Amino acid sequence: MAYLASPTRTMAVLERHGLRAQKKYGQNFLIDTHVLDHICDGAEIGKDDLVLEIGPGIGTMTQYLAERAGKVIAVEIDNKLIPVLADTLSEYDNVTVLNQDILKTDITALYEKEKYLEGKPLHFKVVANLPYYITTPIIMELLEQKLPLTSITVMVQTEVAERMQAVPGTKDYGALSLAVQYYTRPEVIAQVPPTCFIPRPNVGSSVIRLTRYTDPPVVAKDEKKMFAVIRASFNQRRKTLINGLAGGGVAEKENVRQALLQMGLPEDIRGERLSVEQFARLAELL
Ligand code: SAM
Repeated sequence: MAYLASPTRTMAVLERHGLRAQKKYGQNFLIDTHVLDHICDGAEIGKDDLVLEIGPGIGTMTQYLAERAGKVIAVEIDNKLIPVLADTLSEYDNVTVLNQDILKTDITALYEKEKYLEGKPLHFKVVANLPYYITTPIIMELLEQKLPLTSITVMVQTEVAERMQAVPGTKDYGALSLAVQYYTRPEVIAQVPPTCFIPRPNVGSSVIRLTRYTDPPVVAKDEKKMFAVIRASFNQRRKTLINGLAGGGVAEKENVRQALLQMGLPEDIRGERLSVEQFARLAELL
C-alpha cells in the first residue's frame, strides 16, 4: 500500500507530475495519517459502503477509502490530477475516477450505476475534504437532491461547521443551518489545524458528520415552499419576517401577519428566531 499522507510524499508526487496546488480549485492536500484515519472511522466506512469522494486531489484520502469501502467513486474537476490519480490509485480495482465538476454531476445516476456489489446493495455515503470555495452549494445540492445518502462526512472551514450546527437566535444561524438540521443530525468529530495540509489554509478546519434522519423530527408538507420561505427570511436578515417575506415576493404582508398571530409569535419577529419546526408550520399556514 502506497500511502501518500506525508509532506515529503505529497511534494514528491506533485513534483514528479510537474504540478503545484491550484488555489482556484481550493487545493489543500491532507498530509496527516491520524486525521485520515479519524475521518474514515467517523464515517464508519465498511465493505458494504459505496463512497462518493468529492475532490480526491492526488488520491491521499481515496487510498484510505478504497482500503475500507466496497466501492469508491471519486469526482475531480482538475484534469491535471487525473494522470496523478491513475498513478496513485493503480493498486485499487474498486475506485472509479471521474473528471467532472461535482456541481454539474448527476449523482443519482452515479449511485444507480454503482449501488450493488456482488449482487448486494451498498450504503451510500459522501466523504470529502471539500474545496472551501464551494462548500455551501455542494452541501445544499447533496441535501436537496434527496439522494439516498446515509451520511455526509466532510472537512469544512470551522466557521462553516459552526453555521451548520447553529441554533435559532445566534449570529451563525441561517439557511445553511436550517437545511442541514432539517435533513440531518450534525456532529463535529475533529478539529484540524492548518499544519495538517499542504499548502496550509489560512483558516481552521473541522470534520463534521451529517447523519441523515431515517425518521425526521420535522416533516414539512411542502419542502420547496418551506425553503423558499427560509431563503426569503435570511436574504433580508435585518428586516422583520413580515417585511422579508413580502419583499421577497413569497407572501402578502397580511397573510404573514395572520400566520404569525396563529402561531402565537410577535409581529416584529425576525426569521433568525424561528426553529425548523416553526418554519415548517409557517410555510403550511401561508
Ligand atoms: N481530497 C484531497 C485531500 O484531502 O488531500 C484534496 C482536497 S482539496 C481541499 C479539494 C479538491 O477538490 C481538489 O482536488 C480540487 O481540485 C477539487 N475540486 C474543486 N472544485 C471541484 C468541483 N467543482 N468538482 C470536483 N472537484 C473539485
